[in-house]
Amino acid sequence: MTDTLAPTVSSTSSSGRSGAPSERRVVTAIPGPKSLALHERRNAVVASGAASGFPVYIDHAHGAIIVDVDGNQFIDLGSGIGVTTIGHTDDAVVAAARQQVGELTHGLFTITPYEGYVRVAELLAEHTPGDFPKKSLLVNAGAEAVENGVKIARKYTGRKAVAVLDHAFHGRTNLTMAMNYKSMPYKLGFGPFAGDIHHAPNSYPYHDGLTGPEAAARTIAFLDKTVGASDLACLVVEPIQGEGGFMVPAEGYLPALQKWCTENGIVFIADEIQAGMARTGKYFSSEHFGLIPDLVLSAKGIAGGLPLAAVTGRAEIMDASHPGGLGGTFGGNPVSAAAAIAVFDSIETKGLLAEATRIENTLKPELLRLQKKFDVIGDVRGIGAMIAIEFVQPGTGATTKEPNAAAVAAISRYAFEHGVILLTAGTYGNVIRFLPSLAISDEQILDALSVIEDALAAL
Ligand SMILES: *Cc1c(COP(=O)(O)O)cnc(C)c1O
Repeated sequence: MTDTLAPTVSSTSSSGRSGAPSERRVVTAIPGPKSLALHERRNAVVASGAASGFPVYIDHAHGAIIVDVDGNQFIDLGSGIGVTTIGHTDDAVVAAARQQVGELTHGLFTITPYEGYVRVAELLAEHTPGDFPKKSLLVNAGAEAVENGVKIARKYTGRKAVAVLDHAFHGRTNLTMAMNYKSMPYKLGFGPFAGDIHHAPNSYPYHDGLTGPEAAARTIAFLDKTVGASDLACLVVEPIQGEGGFMVPAEGYLPALQKWCTENGIVFIADEIQAGMARTGKYFSSEHFGLIPDLVLSAKGIAGGLPLAAVTGRAEIMDASHPGGLGGTFGGNPVSAAAAIAVFDSIETKGLLAEATRIENTLKPELLRLQKKFDVIGDVRGIGAMIAIEFVQPGTGATTKEPNAAAVAAISRYAFEHGVILLTAGTYGNVIRFLPSLAISDEQILDALSVIEDALAAL
């Protein structure tokens, strides 16, 4: 399909390099011929399990725009699932990484250390919630941070059981698969799974109608009854659940869980892998709820697209492991660390926390307007640049709220064909999530929304 839509012209964002594309432009059928040819090569040699939702092959990207090999320009509302939070190829990140590549690409911190790792740990200690001595461990990916968080909590408490919440997602390794809620696609056929993982009901205000204290009482009663607080090493929560569909828990829910953990010697771990690093207008989403987690897990947005993850928390907990008990060959790679330092610096110097709020202020009123117009939109929720809409069957929004995955699939397909990358989420596949980079302009948001409105009208 050749595009007939007039591309909106928008100014280059503050992080934009001159000549970088800033608008949506569809010049071939999607996927285009070059993408299709690459896809054929890929199908011959890449494992099918690593499937791609949007098989257009990227040539380059900057800010909130992805340019594919056929010259199509997409507005990216997914940021590689919240990874390029400060924008694709952010100038400061690119400069820091380029410089570092020429100086040191690997040292193995647990053999011969280097300053970048230490600096990232200092920045994490400074910006994670809580005013007490903190220490960090750097690793490669979110799942590895979750694994290490659990490992550290077990060592510190001498207990073994782990609690997680319904609708959670924590990764794809063996332990983290067991911590996920959804079987398809994360677990089915991949067992046996790690034991002593306990799934408790969460707070999901749109569906359960419970207040925060009521939902917390339900979670706590479940864990007391089925595990027993004194057996729990840790409770791992995403303050705003990511893959689950951006549920913002009812007020008071998370503080009540934290209080119960503290009273019972359970390590309270906030998985901030998707919601952290300025995404919601605070450094960490825990701050919206007044939480001071014992351990905070970071990954996705921390290094502007380079692989890096971290466990940060109370020094006495982080120090529970014997020397040599924590580590990993690539953990805290010098190039990733240099990129992360540039990300922290950009958040500060470019005022990016305010950009997340600007994005919410542009996006949310428009989505609420669409909700009034289209009764398949059941709920609009989220904070900052982490906003979702939940789709229901027509006419069920006020009653049974029947999931409508077909509408979500049709809208994301339509958006893709018209130059907008739109991610889905939700246990029932009935949520569209907006995870744009903080470099996205209001014009780009409104242009993408006009495509989504057309898609809704075409349902
Ligand atoms: C993505 C994600 C993970 C896993 O991170 P990987 O880097 O993919 O291993 C864990 N927790 C949450 C909340 C996530 O969004």
